[in-house]
Amino acid sequence: MAKQVEQVCVVKGWQEGPVIDESTLKDDLTRHFYYTLGRDKVGESQLYLYHALALTIRDRLVARCRETNKKIKQQKSRKTSYLSLEFLMGRALGNAVLNLDLEDQVSSALQEYCTKIETIEDAEHDAGLGNGGLGRLAACFLDSCASLALPVIGYGIRYEYGMFNQSMSDGNQIEQPDNWLREGHPWELSAPEHSKRIKFGGYVNSYTDKQGREHRQWVSSHDVLAVPYDVPIPGYKNNIVNTLRLWKSEATDEFNLTEFNAGSYSEAVAQKNLAEQITMVLYPNDSSENGKELRLRQQYFLSSASIQDIVDQWVNDHGESFTDFADYHVFQLNDTHPSIAVAELMRVLVDDYELDWDDAWQITTKTMAYTNHTLLPEALEKWSVSLFSKLLPRILEIVFEINARFLADVAQHWPGDVDKQRELSLIEEGGEPQIRMAYLAIVGSYSVNGVAALHTELLKAGLFKEFYALWPNKFNNKTNGVTPRRWLAHCNPTLSELISEKIGSDWVRDFAQINQLRRFYDDTSFQTQWQDAKVINKQRLVDLVKERCGVEFDVSMMFDVQVKRIHEYKRQLLNILHVIHLYDRIRRGDTQGLVPRCVLLGGKAAPGYYMAKKIIKLINNVADVINKDPLASSYLRVAFLPNYNVTAMEVICPATDLSEQVSTAGKEASGTGNMKFMMNGALTIGTLDGANIEIRDAVGADNFFLFGAEAHQIDDIKSRYNPAHLIEQNSDLANVMHLLESGHFNLFEPCLFDDVINAIKSPHDPWLVAHDFESYVSAQKQVDKAYADQAYWTQMSILNTAASGIFSSDRTISQYSDDIWHLTPLNTSDTDSTTATSKATKS
Ligand SMILES: *Cc1c(COP(=O)(O)O)cnc(C)c1O
Repeated sequence: MAKQVEQVCVVKGWQEGPVIDESTLKDDLTRHFYYTLGRDKVGESQLYLYHALALTIRDRLVARCRETNKKIKQQKSRKTSYLSLEFLMGRALGNAVLNLDLEDQVSSALQEYCTKIETIEDAEHDAGLGNGGLGRLAACFLDSCASLALPVIGYGIRYEYGMFNQSMSDGNQIEQPDNWLREGHPWELSAPEHSKRIKFGGYVNSYTDKQGREHRQWVSSHDVLAVPYDVPIPGYKNNIVNTLRLWKSEATDEFNLTEFNAGSYSEAVAQKNLAEQITMVLYPNDSSENGKELRLRQQYFLSSASIQDIVDQWVNDHGESFTDFADYHVFQLNDTHPSIAVAELMRVLVDDYELDWDDAWQITTKTMAYTNHTLLPEALEKWSVSLFSKLLPRILEIVFEINARFLADVAQHWPGDVDKQRELSLIEEGGEPQIRMAYLAIVGSYSVNGVAALHTELLKAGLFKEFYALWPNKFNNKTNGVTPRRWLAHCNPTLSELISEKIGSDWVRDFAQINQLRRFYDDTSFQTQWQDAKVINKQRLVDLVKERCGVEFDVSMMFDVQVKRIHEYKRQLLNILHVIHLYDRIRRGDTQGLVPRCVLLGGKAAPGYYMAKKIIKLINNVADVINKDPLASSYLRVAFLPNYNVTAMEVICPATDLSEQVSTAGKEASGTGNMKFMMNGALTIGTLDGANIEIRDAVGADNFFLFGAEAHQIDDIKSRYNPAHLIEQNSDLANVMHLLESGHFNLFEPCLFDDVINAIKSPHDPWLVAHDFESYVSAQKQVDKAYADQAYWTQMSILNTAASGIFSSDRTISQYSDDIWHLTPLNTSDTDSTTATSKATKS
C-alpha cells in the first residue's frame, strides 16, 4: 500500500527561500496582470485586476504554507483533521490582506491602477460552500486555528455549485444555481498527484491469508477519483498558513477505457458524468435530513478521501505500523454528515492494512471526535440499510459488526434489558431498517460535544441520555464563537479604528482585550464617536437596501434586523407579527412612545420547505403594504433583503441596532449570528436559547431584552396550549390576526396565507408563536424606551461589544485544543511572535 518515496529535486533558493519580499508586491501585481492573465488595458475589467491581486497574494500564502507544513513535519506535531460537508468561506481577498498585514502595500499598488481595494473586492464571488451557521462555523474555526498556530487541516467538498442564489419574483423566492467557479477560483491549487480512489457498489469477498487469517475484500466496485484542491488559510499576522483541502470527483481513467474499448463511447461519457455528479452541487437543506442517494455518496466520498489522505501520509512517514497513529491524529466530525468516517477508518485499518478488529477499534475510538449541532428530530440523519448495502456493501458489514459488539456492551451494562438494546442499536428496526448516524458517531468517538451550554445539557438529559449514562466522560460543551478578524476588524473598519484608538490594536489578535472598552462606556465624547461610526455603517446598509430592495431606509431610525436561514423554529413569523402590530398601532394613531424603525429580514428557505417559502412571501407582502402607506413612512419601513450571504452580513451586522434572536427556547443549538451582531455593538432581543443565554450572562441582564417561554417550561405549555384563547385575550394579537385574516396583505391573492394563519392558531404549533407574542411585544416596548434615550442606548451598545470577548472563535478553538485535540501550537518565534491568544478568556 505504501507509496514509493519520490525522488525530490529541490530548486536552490526556493525550498529555503524566504517569504516573498513585500517590496515586490507592486511588480508582482503588474506581472500577473500583464503576463499570467495577458491583459493590458486596466479599464476593461476590474475582474482581471482582482485575479491579478489574488494571485499576487496567493504567492505569499503559498510561500508561508510551505513553511508551515515544514514546521508540522519538523516539530512532529499532532494534527487535527476537521471534516465538514460545508465551509461557508465567503470572500478571501480582504481577509488575506488583513491577516498578512498587506493593507498599505496593496492600496499603494492599486493606486497605479487608479482604484482601491474595496472596489476590487466586489469582483470576488462568495465561496458559498455551506448553508448557514454550521458551514460558517467551520470557516471561522479555520481562521482561528491558523491564527492560534494550530496544526489543523480542513477537509471538505469542492462543490461546482454552492448555495443557490436567491432572487425575488413578486415576493416569492426564486433559486438560481451558484456558478461560483465560472470566472475561475484564483485561491486554489490542485494537487492531482494526491488523488484517491473511492469505492462504490460491487460486493464483498472472503479470502484467507498465508497465516490462515480470514479477510474481507471489497471487489468489483465502481471507483471514482477524488482530486484535491488546496485553499490556503492565513493566520493573523503570524506567518502561519494552514490548508483547506477540497475534494472534486472525477471519473477514473481505466473506467472510461474499458467502456471506450467496448465501443460504447456515449456510455463512457455518461459514466464520467455520473462520477462528476458527486461534487456537482451542495444540498441546500439547513437542519433537515435528506435521504438522497447522491448525498450519501457525497458523505462517503469526503470521508473516504480524507481518511485515505491522512493514512497514506502516515504510511509514507511511519511505515505500516499504526501503534502510535492515535497520538498524532484527531478527526473532528462537524455534525453527523461525515460520521461514516468512523466505519471508513475501520475499513482501511482492517482490510487494507490487516489490523485486528480490536486494535483498529482502539485506534478509531481514540481519534474520532463528534460535534452535535441540533436537537431537531427532522435533522437527525438516518440511512436505509438497503441503500447502504447497494452503495457501500463493505461499510455496511463494518457498521453491523460495530453494532453487534456495542450491543454486547449494552447488555452488560443493563443486564436483561432488551428494550435498551433496541433503543440504543445503531440500526433502527420497525419498518425499513435504518442506520442512525448520530449513534455511529457517538459509539465511534472519544468526545461528543454540544455547541452551547444549554444545548449540551439538553443533549445529556434528552436525545443522548442513555449514551451519557454509559459514557459520562465523553460528553462536553464547546460554545461556538466567530472570528473577530472577519466579523469586526474587516467588516467594520470604522468602529475598529475607533476601538484601536482607545485600547490599541492588539484586540484583533487577543480578543479578550476587548473588555478594556468597558472603561469608556460612560465617556460622552467616546459615545458620540461610537454613534458616528454607527451612522456611517448604517449608510452603507441604506445603500445596499436601496439597491437590492428599492426601499428607502433612514439612518436616523432604529435598524431592527433578523437575518438567518428561514425556518419555523427561528420564528421570523413572530417578528413579522410584531411588525404588523406596529403597523396596526400606527393605523390606530397609537404612536405614543413609538420609535421609528427600519425592519430588515433576510435569509434563504430550503427549496422544498413550503412553510418557509410562505413566510418569505408574507414578509414581502407586509413590507409592500407598509412601505406604500404614507401614514407609516415616518414610523416604519420594512424590507426583505434577497440573497443573504456572508458578504451581505459583513455590511449588515455593523449597521444593526437591534439583533433579533427569537427562536423557540431549546431549538437553536447555539446561533452565531447573535455573536456577530453583539461584537458590532447591537443589542439583542432574544429568548433564553442557545448562546443567547451566555450572551446575556456576559453582558448582564440590564443590557439584553429578554422575553418568551424558557426551555424547561415548553412541554408544560404545550400540554395545555390554546392559541385561540390567547388571541381572544390579547387585543394586540387579535388585531394582528384580524388584519391577516381579512386579507389586508393579500387583497388580490385570496387564501394565500391560510396555512400560515392556521399554523399560528393550531393547538399543536410546535413553535409556540402565539404564546410568546405578548412578552415579545412588551420586550419590544422596552427596546423603544431604551432607544429613545440615545446616550443610554449607546452605553449599552459599548458594553455589548466590550463583553463579546468570549464569543471569539479563538476562545472556542483553544478549548477544543485543550480539552479534545491536545495540540501544541507551531513555533512562530522565528517568524513573528504575534499569534492570536485567548489566554485571558479561557474558562
Ligand atoms: C452567521 C451566519 C449564519 C448563522 O446565523 P444564525 O443567526 O446563527 O442562524 C448564517 N448564514 C450566514 C451567511 C452567516 O454569516
